[in-house]
Amino acid sequence: MDIQFTDLKRQYLKYKDGIDRQIQEVLQSSQFIQGPKVQELEQQLAEYIGVKHAIGCSSGTDALFMALLAYGVKSEDEIITTPFTFIATSEAIAYLNAKPVFVDIDATTYNIDSNKIEAAITPKTKGIIAVDMFGQCADYEVIMAIAQKHNLFVIEDAAQSFGAQYKDRMACSLGQVGCTSFFPAKPFGCYGDGGMVFTDDDQQAEFFKSIRVHGQGNQRYSHNHIGLNARLDTLQAAVLVEKFKYFPRELKARKQAAAYYDQGLKPLQDIVCPVVLDHNISAYAQYSIRVKNRQGLIDHLRSRQIPTAVHYPIPIYRQKAFEFLGLTEGSCPETETVCQEIMSLPMHPFLLPEEQDHIIQSITDFY
Ligand SMILES: *Cc1c(COP(=O)(O)O)cnc(C)c1O
Repeated sequence: MDIQFTDLKRQYLKYKDGIDRQIQEVLQSSQFIQGPKVQELEQQLAEYIGVKHAIGCSSGTDALFMALLAYGVKSEDEIITTPFTFIATSEAIAYLNAKPVFVDIDATTYNIDSNKIEAAITPKTKGIIAVDMFGQCADYEVIMAIAQKHNLFVIEDAAQSFGAQYKDRMACSLGQVGCTSFFPAKPFGCYGDGGMVFTDDDQQAEFFKSIRVHGQGNQRYSHNHIGLNARLDTLQAAVLVEKFKYFPRELKARKQAAAYYDQGLKPLQDIVCPVVLDHNISAYAQYSIRVKNRQGLIDHLRSRQIPTAVHYPIPIYRQKAFEFLGLTEGSCPETETVCQEIMSLPMHPFLLPEEQDHIIQSITDFY
Protein backbone atom coordinates (compact mmCIF):
# COMPACT_ATOMS: atom_id res chain seq x y z
CA MET A 1 0.00 0.00 0.00
CA ASP A 2 1.28 3.45 -0.92
CA ILE A 3 -0.67 5.94 1.14
CA GLN A 4 0.10 9.59 0.37
CA PHE A 5 -1.04 12.51 2.50
CA THR A 6 -2.28 14.27 -0.66
CA ASP A 7 -1.82 12.14 -3.75
CA LEU A 8 -0.94 14.58 -6.53
CA LYS A 9 0.65 11.87 -8.65
CA ARG A 10 -2.52 9.78 -8.72
CA GLN A 11 -4.45 12.90 -9.63
CA TYR A 12 -2.13 13.83 -12.50
CA LEU A 13 -2.17 10.33 -13.97
CA LYS A 14 -5.96 10.38 -13.91
CA TYR A 15 -6.19 13.65 -15.88
CA LYS A 16 -2.91 13.35 -17.76
CA ASP A 17 -4.18 13.55 -21.36
CA GLY A 18 -6.28 16.63 -20.76
CA ILE A 19 -3.66 18.44 -18.70
CA ASP A 20 -0.87 17.68 -21.17
CA ARG A 21 -3.07 19.00 -23.98
CA GLN A 22 -3.85 22.23 -22.08
CA ILE A 23 -0.16 22.81 -21.38
CA GLN A 24 0.76 22.14 -25.00
CA GLU A 25 -1.80 24.74 -26.11
CA VAL A 26 -0.14 27.38 -23.96
CA LEU A 27 3.34 26.39 -25.15
CA GLN A 28 2.25 26.57 -28.77
CA SER A 29 0.47 29.91 -28.39
CA SER A 30 3.46 31.18 -26.37
CA GLN A 31 1.18 33.63 -24.56
CA PHE A 32 2.78 32.99 -21.20
CA ILE A 33 1.79 36.21 -19.44
CA GLN A 34 -1.94 36.93 -19.00
CA GLY A 35 -2.78 34.50 -21.80
CA PRO A 36 -6.42 33.67 -22.69
CA LYS A 37 -6.51 30.72 -20.25
CA VAL A 38 -6.35 33.18 -17.35
CA GLN A 39 -9.48 34.98 -18.52
CA GLU A 40 -11.23 31.72 -19.27
CA LEU A 41 -10.58 30.51 -15.74
CA GLU A 42 -11.61 33.83 -14.18
CA GLN A 43 -14.94 33.75 -16.03
CA GLN A 44 -15.65 30.15 -15.07
CA LEU A 45 -14.82 30.64 -11.42
CA ALA A 46 -16.71 33.95 -11.05
CA GLU A 47 -19.80 32.15 -12.33
CA TYR A 48 -19.22 29.11 -10.10
CA ILE A 49 -18.79 31.22 -6.97
CA GLY A 50 -21.62 33.57 -7.90
CA VAL A 51 -19.72 36.86 -7.78
CA LYS A 52 -19.23 39.50 -10.45
CA HIS A 53 -15.44 39.47 -10.61
CA ALA A 54 -12.70 36.87 -10.19
CA ILE A 55 -9.13 38.13 -10.57
CA GLY A 56 -6.31 35.60 -10.79
CA CYS A 57 -3.12 36.30 -8.89
CA SER A 58 0.15 34.64 -7.95
CA SER A 59 -0.79 33.00 -4.62
CA GLY A 60 -3.24 32.95 -1.76
CA THR A 61 -0.84 35.11 0.21
CA ASP A 62 -0.81 37.77 -2.52
CA ALA A 63 -4.61 37.56 -2.74
CA LEU A 64 -4.80 38.53 0.94
CA PHE A 65 -2.19 41.22 0.46
CA MET A 66 -4.08 42.71 -2.51
CA ALA A 67 -7.33 42.69 -0.51
CA LEU A 68 -5.72 44.60 2.35
CA LEU A 69 -4.21 47.08 -0.13
CA ALA A 70 -7.67 47.64 -1.60
CA TYR A 71 -8.85 48.83 1.81
CA GLY A 72 -5.83 51.09 2.21
CA VAL A 73 -4.63 49.25 5.32
CA LYS A 74 -1.63 51.04 6.77
CA SER A 75 0.60 51.19 9.80
CA GLU A 76 -1.21 51.29 13.19
CA ASP A 77 -4.47 49.88 11.78
CA GLU A 78 -5.82 46.87 13.66
CA ILE A 79 -7.17 43.85 11.82
CA ILE A 80 -9.05 41.19 13.74
CA THR A 81 -8.24 37.61 12.80
CA THR A 82 -7.69 34.09 14.11
CA PRO A 83 -4.45 32.78 15.65
CA PHE A 84 -5.25 29.25 14.43
CA THR A 85 -4.33 29.39 10.74
CA PHE A 86 -1.44 29.24 8.31
CA ILE A 87 1.03 32.08 8.85
CA ALA A 88 0.06 33.86 5.60
CA THR A 89 -3.13 35.36 7.06
CA SER A 90 -1.28 37.40 9.69
CA GLU A 91 1.79 37.85 7.54
CA ALA A 92 -0.15 39.95 5.02
CA ILE A 93 -1.39 42.18 7.85
CA ALA A 94 2.01 42.56 9.48
CA TYR A 95 3.74 43.24 6.17
CA LEU A 96 1.73 46.46 5.94
CA ASN A 97 2.83 47.31 9.49
CA ALA A 98 -0.75 46.89 10.61
CA LYS A 99 -1.47 44.92 13.76
CA PRO A 100 -3.16 41.53 13.79
CA VAL A 101 -5.53 41.33 16.76
CA PHE A 102 -6.21 37.71 17.63
CA VAL A 103 -9.60 36.45 18.71
CA ASP A 104 -9.75 32.91 20.09
CA ILE A 105 -11.38 30.08 18.14
CA ASP A 106 -14.46 28.00 18.69
CA ALA A 107 -12.99 24.62 19.65
CA THR A 108 -15.72 22.75 17.75
CA THR A 109 -15.24 24.23 14.26
CA TYR A 110 -11.68 25.62 14.76
CA ASN A 111 -12.89 28.91 13.25
CA ILE A 112 -12.80 32.36 14.86
CA ASP A 113 -15.32 32.54 17.71
CA SER A 114 -17.69 35.18 16.37
CA ASN A 115 -19.10 35.80 19.87
CA LYS A 116 -15.72 37.14 20.96
CA ILE A 117 -15.10 39.52 18.05
CA GLU A 118 -16.93 42.59 19.34
CA ALA A 119 -14.88 42.74 22.54
CA ALA A 120 -11.71 43.04 20.43
CA ILE A 121 -12.87 46.08 18.43
CA THR A 122 -11.13 49.40 19.21
CA PRO A 123 -11.17 52.80 17.44
CA LYS A 124 -8.18 51.55 15.41
CA THR A 125 -9.94 48.44 14.06
CA LYS A 126 -10.35 48.60 10.28
CA GLY A 127 -11.45 45.12 9.33
CA ILE A 128 -11.73 41.40 9.94
CA ILE A 129 -10.05 38.50 8.14
CA ALA A 130 -12.00 35.33 8.83
CA VAL A 131 -10.48 31.99 7.80
CA ASP A 132 -12.44 28.91 6.71
CA MET A 133 -10.35 26.36 8.56
CA PHE A 134 -9.92 22.86 7.10
CA GLY A 135 -12.59 23.64 4.49
CA GLN A 136 -15.46 24.71 6.74
CA CYS A 137 -16.72 28.30 6.48
CA ALA A 138 -16.65 30.64 9.45
CA ASP A 139 -19.87 32.16 10.82
CA TYR A 140 -20.35 34.94 8.25
CA GLU A 141 -23.90 35.94 9.17
CA VAL A 142 -22.70 37.03 12.60
CA ILE A 143 -19.35 38.34 11.35
CA MET A 144 -20.94 40.50 8.62
CA ALA A 145 -23.50 41.92 11.06
CA ILE A 146 -20.75 42.96 13.49
CA ALA A 147 -18.72 44.44 10.64
CA GLN A 148 -21.66 46.46 9.38
CA LYS A 149 -22.42 47.80 12.85
CA HIS A 150 -18.81 48.97 13.34
CA ASN A 151 -18.09 49.94 9.74
CA LEU A 152 -15.37 47.32 9.20
CA PHE A 153 -14.42 45.41 6.05
CA VAL A 154 -14.52 41.62 5.97
CA ILE A 155 -12.02 39.57 3.97
CA GLU A 156 -12.70 35.84 3.63
CA ASP A 157 -9.53 33.74 3.65
CA ALA A 158 -10.94 30.84 1.65
CA ALA A 159 -7.56 29.26 0.85
CA GLN A 160 -8.81 25.98 2.35
CA SER A 161 -12.48 26.22 1.43
CA PHE A 162 -12.81 26.61 -2.34
CA GLY A 163 -15.99 24.67 -3.19
CA ALA A 164 -17.40 24.78 0.36
CA GLN A 165 -20.84 26.18 1.13
CA TYR A 166 -22.35 28.24 3.95
CA LYS A 167 -26.15 28.51 4.08
CA ASP A 168 -26.35 27.67 0.36
CA ARG A 169 -23.78 30.30 -0.61
CA MET A 170 -20.34 29.52 -1.94
CA ALA A 171 -17.12 30.06 -0.01
CA CYS A 172 -15.16 33.00 -1.54
CA SER A 173 -18.42 35.01 -1.76
CA LEU A 174 -19.08 35.41 1.97
CA GLY A 175 -17.07 38.53 2.85
CA GLN A 176 -16.61 41.67 0.76
CA VAL A 177 -13.50 40.14 -0.79
CA GLY A 178 -12.84 36.40 -1.03
CA CYS A 179 -9.26 35.17 -1.30
CA THR A 180 -8.30 31.67 -2.32
CA SER A 181 -5.15 29.69 -3.05
CA PHE A 182 -4.38 27.17 -5.78
CA PHE A 183 -1.35 25.74 -3.97
CA PRO A 184 -1.19 22.08 -5.07
CA ALA A 185 -2.36 20.64 -1.74
CA LYS A 186 -5.46 22.85 -1.46
CA PRO A 187 -8.89 21.52 -2.49
CA PHE A 188 -8.55 23.17 -5.93
CA GLY A 189 -4.83 23.13 -6.60
CA CYS A 190 -2.62 23.84 -9.61
CA TYR A 191 0.92 22.59 -10.23
CA GLY A 192 2.77 25.47 -8.67
CA ASP A 193 1.62 28.66 -6.98
CA GLY A 194 -1.57 30.51 -7.79
CA GLY A 195 -4.46 32.37 -6.18
CA MET A 196 -7.58 34.42 -6.84
CA VAL A 197 -9.57 37.30 -5.39
CA PHE A 198 -13.35 37.53 -5.72
CA THR A 199 -15.46 40.67 -5.42
CA ASP A 200 -18.82 42.11 -6.50
CA ASP A 201 -17.44 45.64 -6.51
CA ASP A 202 -16.53 46.96 -9.99
CA GLN A 203 -14.08 49.57 -8.73
CA GLN A 204 -12.33 47.10 -6.49
CA ALA A 205 -12.02 44.66 -9.40
CA GLU A 206 -10.31 47.35 -11.48
CA PHE A 207 -7.95 48.01 -8.59
CA PHE A 208 -7.04 44.30 -8.33
CA LYS A 209 -6.42 44.07 -12.08
CA SER A 210 -4.13 47.05 -11.86
CA ILE A 211 -2.34 46.18 -8.63
CA ARG A 212 -1.32 42.72 -9.86
CA VAL A 213 0.53 44.37 -12.78
CA HIS A 214 2.59 47.01 -10.98
CA GLY A 215 -0.38 49.33 -10.54
CA GLN A 216 -0.54 49.80 -14.29
CA GLY A 217 -3.33 51.93 -15.79
CA ASN A 218 -5.03 51.41 -19.15
CA GLN A 219 -1.80 52.08 -20.96
CA ARG A 220 1.46 50.25 -20.75
CA TYR A 221 4.14 52.02 -18.72
CA SER A 222 1.64 54.33 -17.08
CA HIS A 223 1.18 53.50 -13.39
CA ASN A 224 -1.52 54.70 -11.02
CA HIS A 225 -0.59 52.77 -7.88
CA ILE A 226 2.45 51.28 -6.19
CA GLY A 227 1.66 47.71 -7.13
CA LEU A 228 3.02 44.18 -7.27
CA ASN A 229 4.07 41.60 -9.80
CA ALA A 230 1.33 39.19 -8.77
CA ARG A 231 -0.19 37.70 -11.91
CA LEU A 232 -1.55 34.17 -12.19
CA ASP A 233 0.77 32.16 -14.44
CA THR A 234 -0.92 31.14 -17.72
CA LEU A 235 0.37 27.55 -17.49
CA GLN A 236 -1.18 27.26 -14.02
CA ALA A 237 -4.45 28.70 -15.30
CA ALA A 238 -4.45 26.09 -18.07
CA VAL A 239 -3.99 23.28 -15.53
CA LEU A 240 -6.88 24.69 -13.50
CA VAL A 241 -9.19 25.04 -16.52
CA GLU A 242 -8.71 21.31 -17.12
CA LYS A 243 -9.02 20.31 -13.47
CA PHE A 244 -12.16 22.38 -12.99
CA LYS A 245 -14.04 19.84 -15.13
CA TYR A 246 -13.41 17.22 -12.47
CA PHE A 247 -13.71 19.46 -9.43
CA PRO A 248 -17.32 18.64 -8.45
CA ARG A 249 -16.42 14.95 -8.58
CA GLU A 250 -13.35 15.57 -6.41
CA LEU A 251 -15.38 17.46 -3.82
CA LYS A 252 -17.81 14.56 -3.64
CA ALA A 253 -14.96 12.08 -3.24
CA ARG A 254 -13.49 14.15 -0.38
CA LYS A 255 -16.88 14.19 1.32
CA GLN A 256 -17.21 10.43 0.92
CA ALA A 257 -13.72 9.84 2.32
CA ALA A 258 -14.58 12.03 5.31
CA ALA A 259 -17.80 10.11 5.92
CA TYR A 260 -15.84 6.86 5.77
CA TYR A 261 -13.37 8.13 8.39
CA ASP A 262 -16.29 9.34 10.55
CA GLN A 263 -17.90 5.94 10.45
CA GLY A 264 -14.70 4.14 11.41
CA LEU A 265 -13.38 6.58 14.01
CA LYS A 266 -16.46 7.95 15.78
CA PRO A 267 -16.84 4.80 17.91
CA LEU A 268 -13.38 5.46 19.41
CA GLN A 269 -13.64 7.38 22.71
CA ASP A 270 -10.16 8.89 22.36
CA ILE A 271 -10.74 10.63 19.04
CA VAL A 272 -12.60 13.85 18.36
CA CYS A 273 -13.74 13.74 14.72
CA PRO A 274 -14.38 16.92 12.70
CA VAL A 275 -17.74 18.57 13.36
CA VAL A 276 -19.36 20.20 10.32
CA LEU A 277 -22.32 22.38 11.30
CA ASP A 278 -25.67 21.69 9.63
CA HIS A 279 -25.61 24.88 7.55
CA ASN A 280 -22.11 24.13 6.22
CA ILE A 281 -20.78 21.88 3.48
CA SER A 282 -17.05 21.42 4.00
CA ALA A 283 -14.52 21.20 1.17
CA TYR A 284 -12.47 18.93 3.49
CA ALA A 285 -9.11 20.48 2.75
CA GLN A 286 -8.06 18.39 5.73
CA TYR A 287 -9.56 15.67 7.85
CA SER A 288 -8.25 16.73 11.26
CA ILE A 289 -8.86 14.90 14.50
CA ARG A 290 -8.08 15.78 18.13
CA VAL A 291 -6.31 13.28 20.36
CA LYS A 292 -4.56 13.39 23.74
CA ASN A 293 -1.45 11.33 22.95
CA ARG A 294 -0.68 12.94 19.60
CA GLN A 295 3.01 12.17 19.22
CA GLY A 296 2.40 8.53 20.20
CA LEU A 297 -0.25 8.14 17.52
CA ILE A 298 1.85 9.92 14.87
CA ASP A 299 4.80 7.60 15.58
CA HIS A 300 2.57 4.54 15.55
CA LEU A 301 1.04 5.51 12.20
CA ARG A 302 4.45 6.28 10.73
CA SER A 303 5.59 2.78 11.68
CA ARG A 304 2.75 1.55 9.46
CA GLN A 305 3.68 3.84 6.56
CA ILE A 306 0.80 6.20 7.19
CA PRO A 307 1.75 9.88 6.76
CA THR A 308 0.15 12.53 8.97
CA ALA A 309 0.59 16.28 9.48
CA VAL A 310 -0.04 18.80 12.24
CA HIS A 311 -2.08 21.82 11.15
CA TYR A 312 -1.04 23.81 13.19
CA PRO A 313 1.28 23.16 16.11
CA ILE A 314 1.79 26.79 17.23
CA PRO A 315 -0.66 29.70 17.63
CA ILE A 316 0.43 32.53 15.31
CA TYR A 317 1.19 34.85 18.23
CA ARG A 318 3.60 32.28 19.69
CA GLN A 319 5.64 32.18 16.46
CA LYS A 320 9.05 33.82 16.68
CA ALA A 321 8.12 36.13 13.80
CA PHE A 322 5.27 37.57 15.89
CA GLU A 323 7.21 37.89 19.14
CA PHE A 324 7.11 41.67 18.72
CA LEU A 325 3.39 41.67 19.55
CA GLY A 326 4.33 40.66 23.10
CA LEU A 327 1.47 38.19 23.48
CA THR A 328 2.09 35.54 26.12
CA GLU A 329 0.89 32.01 26.60
CA GLY A 330 -2.72 31.96 27.71
CA SER A 331 -3.80 34.74 25.32
CA CYS A 332 -6.12 32.39 23.40
CA PRO A 333 -6.62 29.27 25.55
CA GLU A 334 -8.86 27.34 23.14
CA THR A 335 -6.34 27.79 20.34
CA GLU A 336 -3.48 26.66 22.57
CA THR A 337 -5.28 23.45 23.55
CA VAL A 338 -6.22 22.67 19.95
CA CYS A 339 -2.60 23.26 18.82
CA GLN A 340 -1.54 20.55 21.30
CA GLU A 341 -4.10 17.98 20.18
CA ILE A 342 -4.87 18.49 16.49
CA MET A 343 -3.52 16.26 13.70
CA SER A 344 -4.53 15.59 10.10
CA LEU A 345 -4.98 12.22 8.43
CA PRO A 346 -4.37 11.52 4.74
CA MET A 347 -7.14 13.24 2.76
CA HIS A 348 -7.52 13.51 -1.01
CA PRO A 349 -10.09 12.51 -3.65
CA PHE A 350 -8.21 9.35 -4.63
CA LEU A 351 -8.02 7.59 -1.27
CA LEU A 352 -9.06 3.97 -1.65
CA PRO A 353 -11.39 2.25 0.81
CA GLU A 354 -8.69 -0.33 1.58
CA GLU A 355 -6.25 2.48 2.39
CA GLN A 356 -8.75 4.09 4.73
CA ASP A 357 -9.46 0.67 6.29
CA HIS A 358 -5.74 0.32 7.02
CA ILE A 359 -5.60 3.81 8.58
CA ILE A 360 -8.73 3.26 10.69
CA GLN A 361 -7.53 -0.19 11.80
CA SER A 362 -4.10 1.19 12.74
CA ILE A 363 -5.65 3.95 14.85
CA THR A 364 -7.99 1.43 16.48
CA ASP A 365 -5.00 -0.82 17.28
CA PHE A 366 -3.18 2.08 18.93
CA TYR A 367 -6.02 2.69 21.35
C1 LIG B 1 -2.43 28.05 2.12
C2 LIG B 1 -3.02 29.17 2.86
C3 LIG B 1 -2.73 30.51 2.54
C4 LIG B 1 -1.68 30.91 1.56
O1 LIG B 1 -1.85 30.45 0.27
P1 LIG B 1 -0.56 30.38 -0.71
O2 LIG B 1 -1.17 30.16 -2.05
O3 LIG B 1 0.28 29.26 -0.25
O4 LIG B 1 0.14 31.69 -0.61
C5 LIG B 1 -3.40 31.50 3.23
N1 LIG B 1 -4.29 31.21 4.20
C6 LIG B 1 -4.58 29.94 4.54
C7 LIG B 1 -5.60 29.70 5.59
C8 LIG B 1 -3.95 28.88 3.90
O5 LIG B 1 -4.23 27.62 4.26
